[in-house]
Amino acid sequence: MRKESDRELLDFFMVTCREHHLRVTPQRLAIYVLLSESKEHPSADGVFQSIKREFPSISYDTVNRTLLTFSKIGVVGIVEGRGEPRRFDPNMSSHHHFHCRRCGTITDFFSDDYDNLEIPRDLEEKFTVLNKRVVLEGICDTCRTKQSRL
Ligand SMILES: [Zn+2]
Ligand SMILES: [Zn+2]
Repeated sequence: MRKESDRELLDFFMVTCREHHLRVTPQRLAIYVLLSESKEHPSADGVFQSIKREFPSISYDTVNRTLLTFSKIGVVGIVEGRGEPRRFDPNMSSHHHFHCRRCGTITDFFSDDYDNLEIPRDLEEKFTVLNKRVVLEGICDTCRTKQSRL
């Protein structure tokens, strides 16, 4: 059985697609569900590798284009990147990221303090800030455990 929050997420997806006149095909729905159940902020290729088990004839291009469309209509986000393949994020609520430098894992975390961080005044005068996200970088616990076993 699906959790209530999953149902809400699905409703949000359906409603947003309808608002943007995007037809909810079985493939699009499957891509969204896969992404929203993933905790890994997968790349388009990651999504493609999993989705083709269910839809063997789907192409990488279709998956990539679908994900970009999803981000355009605002049902998924794109993770701030550093030249790696683009990574996608189903979590559209305010949250922050921990990037592991070793394995590349991106972990969501929540912090009211970070949500309320003040924007430096000179920046606020120059730019319009639409979104605030704190990105921490380091070594995740999985990698740390591996390291200590060496
Ligand atoms: Zn790691
Ligand atoms: Zn995230």
